[in-house]
Amino acid sequence: TAVDPFDLVIFGGTGDLARRKILPALYRRFCAGQFREGARIIGAARADLGTRGYRAFVAEALREAAAEEAGDAAALDAFLATLDYVSLDARGDRGWPELAAKLTEDRVRACFFSVGPSLFAPLAERLRRHGIVTDRTRIVVEKPFGHDLDSARALNATLAAHFHERQIFRIDHYLGKETVQNLMAVRFGNMLFEPLWNSLFVDHVQITVAEAVGVRGRGEYYDRAGAMRDMVQNHLMQLLCLIAMEPPSKFDPDAVRDEKLKVIRALDPVQPHHIVRGQYVAAPGRDEPGYREEVGNPRSTTETYVALKVGISNWRWAGTPIYLRTGKRLVARSSVINVVFKHAPHSIFGEDAGQHANILSIRLQPNEGITLQVTIKEPGPGGIRLIDVPLDMTFAEALGPEGAHHPDAYERLVVDVLRGNQTLFMRGDEVEAAWAWTDPIIEGWESRGDVPKPYEVGSTGPTDAELLMRRDNRRWLGIR
Ligand code: NAD
Repeated sequence: TAVDPFDLVIFGGTGDLARRKILPALYRRFCAGQFREGARIIGAARADLGTRGYRAFVAEALREAAAEEAGDAAALDAFLATLDYVSLDARGDRGWPELAAKLTEDRVRACFFSVGPSLFAPLAERLRRHGIVTDRTRIVVEKPFGHDLDSARALNATLAAHFHERQIFRIDHYLGKETVQNLMAVRFGNMLFEPLWNSLFVDHVQITVAEAVGVRGRGEYYDRAGAMRDMVQNHLMQLLCLIAMEPPSKFDPDAVRDEKLKVIRALDPVQPHHIVRGQYVAAPGRDEPGYREEVGNPRSTTETYVALKVGISNWRWAGTPIYLRTGKRLVARSSVINVVFKHAPHSIFGEDAGQHANILSIRLQPNEGITLQVTIKEPGPGGIRLIDVPLDMTFAEALGPEGAHHPDAYERLVVDVLRGNQTLFMRGDEVEAAWAWTDPIIEGWESRGDVPKPYEVGSTGPTDAELLMRRDNRRWLGIR
């Protein structure tokens, strides 16, 4: 169903994120008929573009990002007609009265902070000062949300001075991914899994977010952040929470976020020997540069890879480790959660049958879907030999072409902001708890002067990460 007319302001409306993600998502929702007559999108950035200039800029961005839909000239024109633009300075007062004058009374005002984090506080203050904040104003904040616990607390405090928590939408775009939401549907919509979803039946969980790309134009930011801050504290932590949380009593923002928070608070501190840090180096015969060359910092000790063994001290999970790993310039792009069940307690088929485990794989990308590995008899007239086969729920096959089309995470999240639904956004206390767990790990590296282990571009990561598993008689499931 369509959302009521709104004013949506994109601060940083000419930036990379706006161009590649936010505007294409808005355009797709517009084409899907989700906006009513009168909806308005206002770009706000430093450049002196004017409305016509901005429309041309957006048309170009849509041609790049939303190629098929942008081919529909009538739809494109209709969408461009919803766009307006204000040139303003987030740190000064230039442009703000013009912005205020463009807004409509009694409407949802969604303000996307698609700017660097140093502008979050100045924007919040100026929104207030120029009378733009009403009860129906919402702000959307991108990562990074702080650099550590102290800065996250300070940022939360600044935002809280101007907005209620129910007005603050902290984006973790992983939560907008279709399969991530499906993870909750599978866990809590079926009888089959939940009774087995604990340390009695689950041997361990692996969460892998492998990227094939390097730091792309974000080297300067990345070199100060590293994989722990850029990926683990937010995205992998969110996935871990959804896997490990208790069933919320209902699918509503506070019920879900309360349960996630309890998981983060139950995480054990990570032992140094349960962490592997890596940094990619050039590989023979490949063109991609090593990390230090790519960011132009020959002495950088920033990690581009991290693998961790994480324990959760509660009744459900004590004794069942969660292994996390993420890295850049790995062999393939692949995000997957594997829930590895225990072996059957006794094999009636004898030693030769080997040991088999059920594995529930939730693939976020590519090829989104869910697979349950089950053990069956190998076909044939001989004795009973066991093999593992996938019970595949690739959405494209099960649901037809419609099922194969997954809206981009931002499409879902944008509409949730307009509707005021915070379930898939992080609450302030959640973010702080995640930093409280992450900080000692990073401080440990800093105090020990830790240097990340090199791994070759196009590999599966440092060999130490294999050892981390092997010590526990386990192995990583393949990245591809
Ligand atoms: P960008 O540098 O491409 O764009 C910055 C935008 O902010 C521009 O529109 C610029 O005009 C505007 N701006 C800068 N200073 C301003 C000022 N003083 N007053 C008004 N406007 C000003 O940045 P980006 O890559 O689009 O990133 C935006 C935010 O999103 C950042 O917080 C970034 O960390 C986050 N983010 C970006 C990506 C991505 O893929 N680009 C991914 C995740 C998170």
